[in-house]
Amino acid sequence: MTYEIHAIRYGQMDRMRRDNFLHLDDHDGPMPLDFFIWVITGDHGTFVVDTGFDQTVADRRNRTLLRPIHAALEATGTDPATVKDVIITHLHWDHAGNHDLFPQARYHLQEKEMAFATGPCMCNHTMNRPFEVEDVQHMVKRVFEGRVCFHDGSKEIAPGLSLHWVGGHSGGLQVVRVKTRRGWVVLASDATHYYENFEKAAPFPIVANVGDAVRAFRTLRELATSDAHVIPGHDPLVLQRYPSSGLGEGIVRLDADPV
Ligand SMILES: [Zn+2]
Ligand SMILES: [Zn+2]
Repeated sequence: MTYEIHAIRYGQMDRMRRDNFLHLDDHDGPMPLDFFIWVITGDHGTFVVDTGFDQTVADRRNRTLLRPIHAALEATGTDPATVKDVIITHLHWDHAGNHDLFPQARYHLQEKEMAFATGPCMCNHTMNRPFEVEDVQHMVKRVFEGRVCFHDGSKEIAPGLSLHWVGGHSGGLQVVRVKTRRGWVVLASDATHYYENFEKAAPFPIVANVGDAVRAFRTLRELATSDAHVIPGHDPLVLQRYPSSGLGEGIVRLDADPV
């Protein structure tokens, strides 16, 4: 039993190398960033990983929304209204928006992320800057509705599909390990924004705990069949390295071998 995985690019922004590493080597230059969501499908259902941002937030934060999330999902044949499981890797603004899109879903979240996003660190503007308070409020509302499935550490939520706390970049960041026809693929989300972050063990500058962020690079390698099975959360190279799904621009298959 294996799963198919689609990566869908839904947004992008221009950045420089100096924006993408906690400690920069001596080279600077353009290093753009893509925004993705992921859809995992198999015999045990459809799992949407992260929910992106919408046009309102894109405008406020000066980012480019290439396609609304509902359109991104529909391109892969996924009707958000019927999705039962949404995995939130962490509650940052680009991973946890579009609140009304999944009326039937339960949300898989690490206990530590909820505590982090509602706790004392959020009194500080540097720490709360990657969060939209509305995203956190909506997650609190789901808690009261009994729609949040909390996890503490590692948890298999379906055969061949597990979640793993790594922290670092955010207090409760989790990564997703998926059994595919080519082995164990790990959706790293922001545990490594770019391939280069984990290849050089060089964290992205948004980081809640540097020690955990560095340990997360090792955890990614332990969970994945090989380095080529680790999928960065924001790297434009993902679209170059994986074959097109044939479903539209910016949609690739991660269960297929890299090209
Ligand atoms: Zn993040
Ligand atoms: Zn992110």
